[in-house]
Amino acid sequence: RAYAAQCLNALDTTSSLLRASESMLGDMDAIAGDGDHGRGMVRGSAAANEAAAAAFERGAGAGSLLAAAGDAWADKAGGTSGVLWGAGLRAFGERLGDAETPTPVVLAASVRAFADRIAELGKAEIGDKTMMDALLPFAASLEERIASGASVGDAWSAAADVARHAAAATADLRPLKGRARPLAEKSLGTPDPGATSLAMVFAAVGPHFT
Ligand code: ADP
Ligand code: MG
Ligand code: MG
Repeated sequence: RAYAAQCLNALDTTSSLLRASESMLGDMDAIAGDGDHGRGMVRGSAAANEAAAAAFERGAGAGSLLAAAGDAWADKAGGTSGVLWGAGLRAFGERLGDAETPTPVVLAASVRAFADRIAELGKAEIGDKTMMDALLPFAASLEERIASGASVGDAWSAAADVARHAAAATADLRPLKGRARPLAEKSLGTPDPGATSLAMVFAAVGPHFT
């Protein structure tokens, strides 16, 4: 179960990264939101990591492990982002499946399933200043590069750069969804916290999938 082990390592990396970024993400969310984004992401990713470790011990394959991690994330994180990340991760795992090494096309389709599920639940569109502003460009860039024959490693790191730039560019937007909407003007000049954390996580997990 090498691929399941890689997915478990990716969740461990995610949880450590978010722990180290907790106060930065909280401060960013406090500008126009309620300041709990760092806390929620730490709680959700820690629960996901723990559930994934338990699933691995039970002998789960990669997809089942990620689906269980998603359920724990949604259950423990609290907040809008936790529900969306949890449901997205479950959809990612379901699409990925438990086969030993998914093809690059299946990996890209799993990222697309993650994005589709979050879009379906959150109903945010590009430009609404949410995590979708980093996620949709990531998914499109990954699909495009994999379709043109790039290796997963190259495609993933290029897509992560696209997501990082897209997250930074949300500073110029006013939030049209979520808790930051009533204080939209205060949010101008600061990137969206959910887009920022998503771009960071996708960049950090890339090496585990290559
Ligand atoms: P809450 O807003 O419930 O306190 P968080 O602070 O953890 O939850 O997460 C806030 C982030 O959630 C926002 O920065 C944004 O990226 C994301 N978000 C909020 N509403 C939506 C939505 N409808 N669709 C997608 N993402 C959303
Ligand atoms: Mg918040
Ligand atoms: Mg909150």
